Amino acid sequence: MEVLYNSTRSKGNPVKASEAILKGLSDDGGLFVPDHIPALDKSLRELSDMTYQEVAYEVMKLFLTDFTEEELKNCINRAYDKKFDTEEIAPLVEAEGAYYLELFHGQTIAFKDMALSILPHLMITSARKNHIKNEIVILTATSGDTGKAALAGFAGVEGTRIIVFYPKNGVSPIQEKQMVTQKGDNTLVVGIHGNFDDAQTGVKKIFSDKALAKEMDAKGFQFSSANSINIGRLVPQICYYVYAYAKLLQEGRIADGETINVVVPTGNFGNILAAFYAKNMGLPIGKLICASNDNKVLYDFFRTGTYDRNREFVLTSSPSMDILISSNLERLIYRIAGNDADKNKELMAALGGQGKYEITEEMKAALSDFYGNYATEAETAEEIKRLYNACGYVIDTHTSVASAVYQKYVAETGDQKKTVIASTASPFKFTRSVMNAIDEKYDSMGDFELVDELSRIANVKVPMAIEEIRTAPVVHDKQCDVDKMQEVVKEFLNI
Ligand SMILES: *Cc1c(COP(=O)(O)O)cnc(C)c1O
Repeated sequence: MEVLYNSTRSKGNPVKASEAILKGLSDDGGLFVPDHIPALDKSLRELSDMTYQEVAYEVMKLFLTDFTEEELKNCINRAYDKKFDTEEIAPLVEAEGAYYLELFHGQTIAFKDMALSILPHLMITSARKNHIKNEIVILTATSGDTGKAALAGFAGVEGTRIIVFYPKNGVSPIQEKQMVTQKGDNTLVVGIHGNFDDAQTGVKKIFSDKALAKEMDAKGFQFSSANSINIGRLVPQICYYVYAYAKLLQEGRIADGETINVVVPTGNFGNILAAFYAKNMGLPIGKLICASNDNKVLYDFFRTGTYDRNREFVLTSSPSMDILISSNLERLIYRIAGNDADKNKELMAALGGQGKYEITEEMKAALSDFYGNYATEAETAEEIKRLYNACGYVIDTHTSVASAVYQKYVAETGDQKKTVIASTASPFKFTRSVMNAIDEKYDSMGDFELVDELSRIANVKVPMAIEEIRTAPVVHDKQCDVDKMQEVVKEFLNI
């Protein structure tokens, strides 16, 4: 059955998957949501014999119903190939009774690669299907991880260009080095003189400039977005939850149909929403455990039913989760409001205005699949150390937030179900925080010295992504003021 995509903010005009991928965001500012969640049409047993690529096809074909088998398999095979440093793509590692699903074996060693390595292919296929002749220009504002993953995904992909704006003094040295060493004639990286919000606002302004869009179209270009609200990023993320379950079954760690729990370190709510969709496809998932750091808006929301962003923004050692507005939560709100676009729009307007909204008791009751909790900075560091001392397994700060919250969940509920913890970044991406958590003595070591020491104590090879930046030449050194962003775009496109 065909799946069409509706906006969360208005009724009518559903679009096909390829159109939703091309547009990114609906014209009314809403997010695209599937009109129904399709059920898995292969048994768990059948899935357990499949490779990652095969599972990905079985899941994605049910959502991207206007793609042919050949188109979709082509996208999957181009995405999940030798760019990943393991054939399994997403290995499952057992440590101290939990299963860590390592989603960081792609090019930029963070889980964003799982979706951003396939999005470019989904996008050019969508463009072809919709007879779009223009080159697709991806515009992205980044606070670190997304920029590099999007660059790596789109670099060298014919028919696309990618421009990334980042706050010149607002990303980590490793993150900046990863971006400014990005090769590919179709890439541009620009440091702006401002913070992340300035970059984000600047990009939104360029997106909504109608005159510019017309000028672009005349010269054979159009904008699109690689942001996590694109349905082309959400759907590929469902696959690894199905794959993880299939692996557990194949290895005889669970019985066919046994319910498992899933823990996700959460920021923008994309990753955990994908797990929720997997559950609704029929995957036997019990609780969806939403783990936050000190920016615990979601924990408060699940507890009280009030989402309130009016609070201090805390900088933590898990920066990719330092978020006060979790964009993808809107898709869940729409759903628990009974797919009511008007109700959702009203709540989102309140969030835009007063910075908060409150859901009804009825909506709150529909959240029973979720459990929210958070880990403080001290608890996050402590958990890295505990796991390392217990079994030698080293996790990054984001994964540690999830792991610490899992401990709290078990202590609180006594629930002993087998549990998959989404491991969203390699510890090598956050080496200093990780090593300091294990032992204070590492504080005096240099950055790359620490990398080698981590490799030694964890008995894990230094990932290519880190090796590369030791020696890679800087190829992007452009900077600009916030009010010059549009000029930089035009200059790059030669218009
Ligand atoms: C983006 C990111 C997250 C948060 O994922 P969401 O889908 O935004 O909730 C967690 N950990 C890491 C390492 C990330 O890069």
